Amino acid sequence: MLIIDDKLQTMTEKLNAALDALGGRDTLRFVVNTHWHFDHAGGNAELGKSATIIAHTNVRKRLSTEQKLEAFGMSFPANPDSALPVITYDESASIHLNGEEIQLVHYPASHTDTDTVVYFTKSNVVHTGDLFFNGLFPFVDVENGGSVQGVAQNVGRILTAFPDDVTIVPGHGPIATKADLRVYHRMLEDSLALVSDAIAAGKSLEDIQATGVPEEWKSWAALIDEPTWLAIVYTSLSQ
Ligand SMILES: [Zn+2]
Repeated sequence: MLIIDDKLQTMTEKLNAALDALGGRDTLRFVVNTHWHFDHAGGNAELGKSATIIAHTNVRKRLSTEQKLEAFGMSFPANPDSALPVITYDESASIHLNGEEIQLVHYPASHTDTDTVVYFTKSNVVHTGDLFFNGLFPFVDVENGGSVQGVAQNVGRILTAFPDDVTIVPGHGPIATKADLRVYHRMLEDSLALVSDAIAAGKSLEDIQATGVPEEWKSWAALIDEPTWLAIVYTSLSQ
């Protein structure tokens, strides 16, 4: 068995129960981390005692040192060895398992500077990690190597890289199709255009937040609210 990401540390017992239902936690051989964040790699310390963790080089770098997420007022001490990826790569890697090739490709300067998109070539399923929040304004970790422009560019790349009937597993939100990802791409491009035009017109972040996003995107405020999303785009464009 192989899993993509292992959720919050506090959910490890529930995750193990789910693995038992799928054939047993003892059969888990590989954990792929799509990026370093606590809600995706939080189970590493426990699962990494027996399974092999695979991730981009920067996941290991970040998990082995103290990290901060100022946006949420959170800080994370260096992780124990069992939480660290054992196999790392800079650009790409493949895992040959259960009769198919599973391709791991690093998409630089996206949600973070540690992101991997995972494609199951035979099942025709792609896991985007947090490059895709389906129907939700995304968090983009602009303090730690992320970029909204980079996410928009890389989402465009995902739209051309995989077959039209691919099943998409986003980092947050429900299972998706390319049609859903296209709408997300349009929301990113719209937000970037809106904020960069406002900056060019001499508007402050407060002005931009007071105007808000077009009606079409209002319902996307849930995990990340509208002022926070606009602040993330503003910061990303100002760097
Ligand atoms: Zn994340």
